Amino acid sequence: MQGIPLRKLVSFLDAALKQSEFPKDESANGLQVEGRKTVHAVGMAVDACASTFQKAAEKKIDFLIVHHGLVWGGIRSIQGVMKQRIKALLDADISLYACHLPLDRHPEYGNNAELLKALRIKKMGEFGEHHGKTIGYWGRLTNELSLNDFSSRIDRTLHTKTTTISFNKKVKNVGIVSGGGWSAIYDAEKTGIDTLLVGEPSHSAYTLAEEMKVNLVFAGHYATETLGVKAVGAMLKKKFGLETEFMDHPTGL
Ligand SMILES: [Zn+2]
Repeated sequence: MQGIPLRKLVSFLDAALKQSEFPKDESANGLQVEGRKTVHAVGMAVDACASTFQKAAEKKIDFLIVHHGLVWGGIRSIQGVMKQRIKALLDADISLYACHLPLDRHPEYGNNAELLKALRIKKMGEFGEHHGKTIGYWGRLTNELSLNDFSSRIDRTLHTKTTTISFNKKVKNVGIVSGGGWSAIYDAEKTGIDTLLVGEPSHSAYTLAEEMKVNLVFAGHYATETLGVKAVGAMLKKKFGLETEFMDHPTGL
């Protein structure tokens, strides 16, 4: 297998993932660490961390795509954990490529679009504003579900353990924002959702949801953010015939 030049892959991904749509993202989206000049094997992971880098080196991965990269708002120094992480990548000659908010928002490969598909929810519209752009979607279930049945569906599909808070009897119109996304509750009234599905629990969401009569579903930050990088990997495999592997490192949070 021939592989693809690193620069070609990076330009392709920058455009395909619409990386330029979020200039205010704290994440330095795009190529963060440069590795081998030619890419044969692509790894996908949620978090850039030592365990993932070690796995990637063992599997002879050339190019690692992550949702949470190493560079957030610039590097002030390279020491401690940061030194170890960068050294691990440079020693193994692995490229690190990050895609944060653009991968939450992306209509085809994004975390939220993929969550809708996986949970069999029909996409109805954009939802959850962040830095002046929506990053989530809201959608409709074919049949109304109880909150219990809905959370069981999420647990089975995402291999997670959801926490739910019930403020509404039914689940039919669901707003979804992967990861931290609780502030999307502010969009609940405007869209008329009855249930908000996000990754992490937040105390701040409770009384707002109570007064808006919107169920809260917390499915895990990690669990709600594995689908985007997996979808990007599947697309690269199909388009360029690259080997791909998802490096699972669940945090349980
Ligand atoms: Zn996240």
